[in-house]
Order: sequence, then C-alpha cells, then structure tokens
Amino acid sequence: MKNTKFMNQAINDEILAKLSLKNRYSFLNNNLMPILSPEQFNYLKGVQKFCMRFEKKNNITHGPDEDVYDWIPAFGEQGYITRAHNFDMIDINYDNYGAVADFLRYLAIDMFDTQFAMGSGATVLAINPIYDHHEGVPERLEALKDLITGKSPGAILITEPERGSDAVHQLSVCEEQDDGSFILNGEKIYNTNAPKSKWVVAYATAEKNNGNLMAQFLINTEWDGWQCERVYIPWVPKLYLGHEKLVNLRVPKEYILGGVGKGREHLFEGLIPERIGIACGAISQCWGAVSHAAIYANMRKQFDQEVLKFQGVGFLLADLWAKTTNLTIGLLKFAETYDDKMEKFGGEIPRNISRAMVASASQFKYHCTNLSKEVCYEAANLMGGAGLCDNTLMHDYMNISRIQEILGGSRQIQQYIMSMALRQLFKML
Ligand SMILES: Cc1cc2nc3c(=O)[nH]c(=O)nc-3n(C[C@H](O)[C@H](O)[C@H](O)COP(=O)(O)OP(=O)(O)OC[C@H]3O[C@@H](n4cnc5c(N)ncnc54)[C@H](O)[C@@H]3O)c2cc1C
Repeated sequence: MKNTKFMNQAINDEILAKLSLKNRYSFLNNNLMPILSPEQFNYLKGVQKFCMRFEKKNNITHGPDEDVYDWIPAFGEQGYITRAHNFDMIDINYDNYGAVADFLRYLAIDMFDTQFAMGSGATVLAINPIYDHHEGVPERLEALKDLITGKSPGAILITEPERGSDAVHQLSVCEEQDDGSFILNGEKIYNTNAPKSKWVVAYATAEKNNGNLMAQFLINTEWDGWQCERVYIPWVPKLYLGHEKLVNLRVPKEYILGGVGKGREHLFEGLIPERIGIACGAISQCWGAVSHAAIYANMRKQFDQEVLKFQGVGFLLADLWAKTTNLTIGLLKFAETYDDKMEKFGGEIPRNISRAMVASASQFKYHCTNLSKEVCYEAANLMGGAGLCDNTLMHDYMNISRIQEILGGSRQIQQYIMSMALRQLFKML
C-alpha cells in the first residue's frame, strides 16, 4: 500500500505548509534561544537538521503505514539513540553528551516523530544497565555497541502479568548452575520494543516474592527459551510491546549484569535516569503540541479574525505555553546539575545526593506527564477539527500523552515516593 499522510486533507494548503517540521523547530528555537548556551543551542540545531534532512530524503509522512523501527539504524549511525554517556569503552566518543545533551536530542527527535522517540527511549533503558555493569566483558560490549549504533532496538523487562507497580516482589525465578550460568523461568509483559529487540535486560529472583534475591540479566532473544508475542497498545500503534515467556532460558555467566542480591540495587539505580527521561519525553510532547497550536491559531480565521485573538483561545494557549516553558527550564536546571555532579564525582554521584535526586526525578516525572496530558489535549482542542483529524501529528501527541503516567511507575507510585520523601525531610528537622 502507498504511504499516505492522511486519508483526506481537511486543513488548507497554506496552514498545512506552515505547520512543517522546520517551522515547529523554529518556534521551539525562538523560545529556547535565551535559555540555552550557544553550545547547547548549536547542538540542538544539529539534531534538528539531521531530522529535517532524514524526513525529506526518505519522504517520511508519519502516516499509518510507516514502520518507525526502520529508522533506527540511521539514527544510530549519527549517535542519536542516546547521548546520556560517552562510550569510550567501545571507541564511541561524542562532543556532546550527558543529561542535557540527551534532553535536547530527545526534544528534537520527539518533534520529528513522538512514537519513534518513545521507542528509542525504551532502548536507552536497556543501554544504561549494560553501560553501568559491562565490566569490560566482550559479550556485553558487543550488545552495548549493537544498541548504541542502532543495529537493534533494546528492551527492559521488569513488569510481570501479576507484578506491575510492585516490581520488587517478582515471580520470575532464576536458578544458578554449577558453571555459573543461570536458568530463567517466568513471564513478563508490556516491555516496549521487546518483540523487535535482539538484546533485552531482564530481572528475576532466586526466590519468588523475595526482592533481596533479585538478579539482573542480559539476554539475546535468539537463545532457546525466549518466547515473545506482541501486546498491542492502540494509543502507540507503531510501537511493539512484548508479552514474554522465559522457559528454561539459560543465561551464560558472561551475560549476568548483577548476580543474586544485586538486582534490586540495579533496578533502583536506573530509576533516576528513567524517570527524568520520561519527563523529558512528556515535556517534548508539550512543545510538539504547543508549536502546532500556536501556528494554527495564528492563521485560522473565524468571525473574520485569527482565532488566537479571541481570549478563549489566546489566553488558554498562553497558559499552556507558560507551563511548558517553566517546566522545561526546571528540567534543564536539573539536567545541568546532574551533569555537573557526575563530572565532579567522577561519574558516580554519592549516595546521599542521589537519594535526594530520586525525589526530584519523581517530582518531574509526575508533573511533566500530568502536564503533557493537559497540554496535548487542550492544544488539540484549540485547533478544533484540525487538531483531531489525521492531517497533523496532534493525534499522536494526544494519544501518547495519555500513557506516560503509567510507565516508569504510575502517578500514584510517584505520589507515594514523594510522600515518603516528605517524611524523610521531616525526620531531618
Ligand atoms: C505503553 C507502556 C509501556 C511500558 N513499557 C514497559 C517497559 O519497557 N518495561 C517494563 O518492564 N514495563 C513497561 N510497562 C509497564 C508499566 O511499567 C506498568 O504498566 C506499570 O508499572 C503499572 O503496572 P500495572 O500495569 O501492573 O498496574 P498495577 O500495578 O496493577 O496498578 C493498577 C492501578 O493501581 C495503582 N496502584 C498500584 N499500587 C498502588 C499503591 N501502592 N498505591 C496507590 N496506587 C497503586 C496504580 O497506580 C494503577 O492506577 C509499560 C506499560 C505501558 C502501558
């Protein structure tokens, strides 16, 4: 079937042309110019340039027939799967890397295609634990290279059919063998990218429901014992999530990222970057939605006036814009502080500081995903029928913004973490 952007053109030619990726980037850039340093700004523009060229060269319409997984190798080749770290252990060195660089990368890529960006975010969740625990083992470095360079997407397998929010009382079990390998048996679910991934990182425990005996494994999905079917999430129809059965799956000792007793610690260590990553994604969706609505409301006329000039439209859009800008600045400040601390402490932030950052990461994850849900819906609403039809990416933003509160720990779990942090703060008085 021919790739088409939409079934029927509902928006007039002039407005549709103005809603181009180039103009949406321009809108974002004019907002960020006073906030970013020249170096940060140039780097952001570099990622944007790549996305614009890629879209044009490959005639990408973001229509329903396109497979976002086809784009991964090209972005991997450019070093745009993740910029959270430098990977000198596999001879990959970037000029720009760290939390800020990764936020800006995500911002540019999400405005290009939000489902594609979310998929790459899930790959990063597999990259981080391998980066932290490769210990120079060639098998792990090979997997790391495949994931970073876009040879394969990756996935993280935490959630189980009967253990979602309660992620530390897992039912998947691991049994150590005489040769140091482990045999895994269990079931996982909702794992973004898993059906498309060569490499996944999974957790299991030596004793059901015992969080202290958890371990962490790198798995090649070509191994015997891996069974995976797709779970379809209609709000992100281009992403493949997995429902897996691990049946006597043997993990050789080279692929054990954390032995029994280490899994829980590894799980928690990944939470700050994961939640900040989801917050960056959510705020990027806000920019995607606000940039569409701002362009549209400045051009669409009703009652012989641009609709922006009616207070009901202009004031609401101003409100969404202000909230988006303010949270962006907050996230950038957090990311800059994180990078400074990583540099100051040689890549390992002391426990007391990183513990304080857990609460901040929950605050941002909670607040940004909550805002994204509001901004994407309200921005589409301000575009009337044009915001709801399939002519722009607005439907993607509305849909994706409604799932972000669940992944990486639901809204209620973030509230619970924050309320416990308030208890700790009280005890420090
Ligand atoms: C699109 C998508 C992508 C995902 N990607 C991944 C992935 O890549 N890897 C992975 O491992 N998982 C992934 N997940 C799974 C996700 O992390 C879980 O869905 C999430 O943690 C919630 O678990 P659950 O679905 O079992 O809900 P449940 O834990 O059953 O929660 C049901 C409801 O109860 C509430 N609740 C539960 N416990 C409490 C409590 N103590 N206090 C208050 N309220 C509570 C929850 O907030 C929720 O509203 C993904 C999920 C989705 C939808």
